[in-house]
Amino acid sequence: TEEILRVSDLSTRYFTQEGQVNAVSSLDLGIERGEVFGIVGESGSGKSVTARSVMNLIDPPGEITDGEIRYRNPDLVEAIADDHPDAIDGEFVKLLELPDDVRRSLRGTSFSMIFQDPESSFNPTLTVGEQLAEAVEVQRRASANPRSTRARTESAEYSLGSLLLSKVLPSRRYVSEESRDRAIELLELVGIPDPVERADEYPHEYSGGMLQRAMIAQALAGEPDVLIADEPTTALDVTIQAQILDLLDELQAETEMTILLITHNLGVIARMCDRVGVMYAGEIVERGTLADVFDEQVHPYTAGLLGSVPDLEGDAARRDAESRAAESRDDAAGRLQPIPGNVPSLLDHEMGDRCHFADRCPKAMTACLEHPPEYPAGGSDDHRARCVLAETEYDEGAALSDGYFDERE
Ligand code: SF4
Ligand code: MG
Repeated sequence: TEEILRVSDLSTRYFTQEGQVNAVSSLDLGIERGEVFGIVGESGSGKSVTARSVMNLIDPPGEITDGEIRYRNPDLVEAIADDHPDAIDGEFVKLLELPDDVRRSLRGTSFSMIFQDPESSFNPTLTVGEQLAEAVEVQRRASANPRSTRARTESAEYSLGSLLLSKVLPSRRYVSEESRDRAIELLELVGIPDPVERADEYPHEYSGGMLQRAMIAQALAGEPDVLIADEPTTALDVTIQAQILDLLDELQAETEMTILLITHNLGVIARMCDRVGVMYAGEIVERGTLADVFDEQVHPYTAGLLGSVPDLEGDAARRDAESRAAESRDDAAGRLQPIPGNVPSLLDHEMGDRCHFADRCPKAMTACLEHPPEYPAGGSDDHRARCVLAETEYDEGAALSDGYFDERE
């Protein structure tokens, strides 16, 4: 396996009237090609801002102020090397070094995103089939002219859905027979029954679950390398939720696409992900494999989250697929535990130079108040926690490069 995405030291801030809000601070993570990487955390922990940062969807007063996002794509490297030599590092493209229009042009073909609310991805005045066909056409043009920023940007706007659609594309019937066929194929791929007929229906004729499927089809039109799913099932009832997760599972297995899955639901994580990062107050506080985080967690926040989810403790990570599926059907099993105390302010002048979890942490000690815990670097395979409990162990002799957590096995 190889890393397809490497986020290093990423900070995204919002400059508001009350002051600077540190929505995401010094975030590190690596995602491997073909895996499902989960980010879990309470609302307001920075999960969505992280996803939007990768997608280049941060709007003022927000701004990515620090860090690097590297994306491995040799073809893209070749296509843009002449124009943007500073943005190239071997097989990686440094996304934040690219001009905005080029970054935007990667949406749809390199990265696609699905959201909680599928309505926002469709234009109510066009049939679902027409919209999928347009997405296919636009992506096809973009892939045919990888150097044409215009073609790529058009595709990007497309993949963002209908908000821009009406502006970019006049209302029209199918551009070509091929794109219509492909649209129907996409509907079939995401499990929409009678795709030929359903293609001619308008978004309002679809149920919530069906529209969610159609949105996934739209996101897949450009055959993206990475699909970012931000709470993709939160708005759905539990039966439909499970079906959509099954679908993502199947698509992932079929296409070997990489998925970054964002959720507040530990059941969804346990069921879908290979590795997981736990976010708190804009930081990843622990990351590792499912087994690392569910069975061997080091950070007291992770332990707290898992505390009230007894069904997910122990061998949950290795539980057979069937019982996991049953589990995620029971939404209650995946709810995060309410941890006593308040979520800390993300206002820079209120955050202070200490562990952000200190006020709520049952294991807090003096050291936690004196300096913020380090987040030790490591490869995407390593289990890491941002906590003095982990640091102490490092100091006591375990070689950092080997990683304390790896040695315990
Ligand atoms: Fe708790 Fe201290 Fe670890 Fe923070 S650094 S999570 S306060 S033990
Ligand atoms: Mg969110």
